[in-house]
Amino acid sequence: MKIIRREPLKKHTSFRIGGPADYFCVPQNLADLQAAVAFARDNKLAVAVLGAGTNLLALDRGFRGLVIKFAGGLRSLSLRNRVIHAGAGVLLPTLVARAGNEGLTGLEFLAGIPGTVGGAVVMNAGAWGKEIGRYLLRVTVMDRAGKIKVLKPGQLRFGYRRSLLQKGNYFLVEAVFRLRRGSRSAIKARIDRYLKERRAKQPLGSPNAGSIFKNPPGRFAGQILEAAGCKGLRVGDAQVSPKHANFIVNLGEAKAGDVLRLMTKMLGRAKMKLEPEIKIMVKSDQ
Ligand SMILES: Cc1cc2nc3c(=O)[nH]c(=O)nc-3n(C[C@H](O)[C@H](O)[C@H](O)COP(=O)(O)OP(=O)(O)OC[C@H]3O[C@@H](n4cnc5c(N)ncnc54)[C@H](O)[C@@H]3O)c2cc1C
Repeated sequence: MKIIRREPLKKHTSFRIGGPADYFCVPQNLADLQAAVAFARDNKLAVAVLGAGTNLLALDRGFRGLVIKFAGGLRSLSLRNRVIHAGAGVLLPTLVARAGNEGLTGLEFLAGIPGTVGGAVVMNAGAWGKEIGRYLLRVTVMDRAGKIKVLKPGQLRFGYRRSLLQKGNYFLVEAVFRLRRGSRSAIKARIDRYLKERRAKQPLGSPNAGSIFKNPPGRFAGQILEAAGCKGLRVGDAQVSPKHANFIVNLGEAKAGDVLRLMTKMLGRAKMKLEPEIKIMVKSDQ
């Protein structure tokens, strides 16, 4: 596995934003991941984790340390009976398609969410009232010392876009799902419907990172922001999508600073506290 110097993070985030990581690697297997962790430890480097970078704002100054990217590595995907083992780097569209082709139902709601299995479990990704955590049998993680552990969903404290894994103590390396048998054509029809609804509502043609703020209890952040007149607001090349008020799109050369200033503006207009859904890649002492 190569460890690359000064890798621009904008190449690895769906926002197409982010300065250089001092060190960057894409482990292909557990041994690579262990080697990356040892490299960081030996060189006293901070570590940040990237799945596919679809829920993430990387800062303009980049990251002083080692960024470990999972998309592009750890891609094993295997199935026995109704149980699927997926490596952390498997992309959700691949997982959804594989389950559907095998006539296994449950994960269709993930159709159109563009991240990795690892990022989705850490974020407890969800849509249409369902969340990925509910379908898990167990996960395999590696701790910061390189030790492997198996954890049950009950140990991960899943909540709305929340899990214990967000504390950053573990790298998620594999997730195991148990699904139900279903009709292939009904599964395909559900996937098609979800994708169609997303295309109608979301600005999928421009770089973005999905929903910026979480929904407050019983309400939709998008509706609150739309009613507050946020659609079309702009700072630099960061713009609140005219199509969806809870999406920020990068019109070309947006900086992380523009996105952060735009988020402050949105909160000012909304006149209420909304919790960010996107994660900001920072070192604890940055
Ligand atoms: C167009 C669009 C639509 C979206 N729609 C939805 C939606 O409907 N519902 C939804 O929930 N999300 C949605 N998202 C957000 C995003 O796709 C999901 O949160 C996705 O699961 C994130 O996966 P990722 O691999 O890109 O994670 P990243 O964005 O790379 O990382 C997210 C967080 O997880 C951590 N992380 C990632 N992988 C690992 C790992 N292996 N081990 C430990 N930590 C890890 C990162 O450090 C970071 O804190 C959308 C995004 C886009 C761009």
